[in-house]
Amino acid sequence: MKNIIECDFSRGKFSMADRNQKGWVFDLQHFSIHDGPGIRTTVFLSGCSLRCKWCQNPESHTVKPVLSFHADKCTACGDCISTCPENAIYIEDNRIHTNRALCTACGNCVPACPAAARSIIGKEMTAAEVLKDAAADKIFYDGSGGGVTLSGGEILVQPEFLKAIIELCREAGISTAVETTGNADWTIVKDTLKDADLVLYDLKHMDPAAHKSGTGAGNKKILENIVEIKKELKIPIFIRIPLIPGYNDSPENLNKTARFVREELGDDTPVNLLPYHRLGLGKWEQLEKGAAQFEAEPPSDEHMEYVRSFFVQYGLDASIGG
Ligand code: SF4
Ligand code: SF4
Repeated sequence: MKNIIECDFSRGKFSMADRNQKGWVFDLQHFSIHDGPGIRTTVFLSGCSLRCKWCQNPESHTVKPVLSFHADKCTACGDCISTCPENAIYIEDNRIHTNRALCTACGNCVPACPAAARSIIGKEMTAAEVLKDAAADKIFYDGSGGGVTLSGGEILVQPEFLKAIIELCREAGISTAVETTGNADWTIVKDTLKDADLVLYDLKHMDPAAHKSGTGAGNKKILENIVEIKKELKIPIFIRIPLIPGYNDSPENLNKTARFVREELGDDTPVNLLPYHRLGLGKWEQLEKGAAQFEAEPPSDEHMEYVRSFFVQYGLDASIGG
């Protein structure tokens, strides 16, 4: 890891990052190749301000950790019941249940389970700890044009933590990409993202009412903020669109989205079309949140090409996948 005095001053934005700033992380993946250019470490920050019905990471919804329970592994031995200080675990109909309203995600029950059916998702880290983990792969970033990607959840839910990680990476000579929906006040977006090297910006729907019904929030701030990032922060942008069958793949919405990107961000803005998948559906059961609110068959290759053609018509560099 490089020392703090080896900073890149080229953009004139040096600041003393808070190495001890704490935050919550629900996953950290090395050698990622789908979250920006080159080989990357993707750090998934906990917490999200949206509630997309097709969410593949429901464990990211809250900033604090959450208990995950694999019912298919559980043998109903009952060993976990007495370990819970909140009396949240009980057996009914020969099956183990957890009263989620009582569970504090303390983790006491995890080592008690001989079947490894219980785990805690999410841990608190300092920005320096994140950097130390990510910096171990710096040689791969340098050789591939990669770096660190901050993803979520929605990264803007933890702005101070996010900002500290970006600053520390920059001081260590590591490129950063941020994946965000931009659903926050502009002052927060500007303050936290200004030192990032690349913005991977999620657009889900152009119609305000449809955006709200699909994600729980309107899209006014989201559309305004991406234009401001382009104009004021001048950071390269990749647009990422989760292609949700029957939700945002109508010709009307595809035309509006492509026109927006072309007219507001420019034809040099790459567009990544991310096909809906079903890999996260089991997580809803493991968190005992009930069935996922949205299920569909993944779009075919032909349909994705059809979707891509709308963006190509507007002169955009659109690709399928991350
Ligand atoms: S994580 Fe803690 S509070 Fe939650 S069920 Fe396990 S022991 Fe009980
Ligand atoms: S200890 Fe594990 S296997 Fe036994 S009842 Fe609890 S969750 Fe199920």
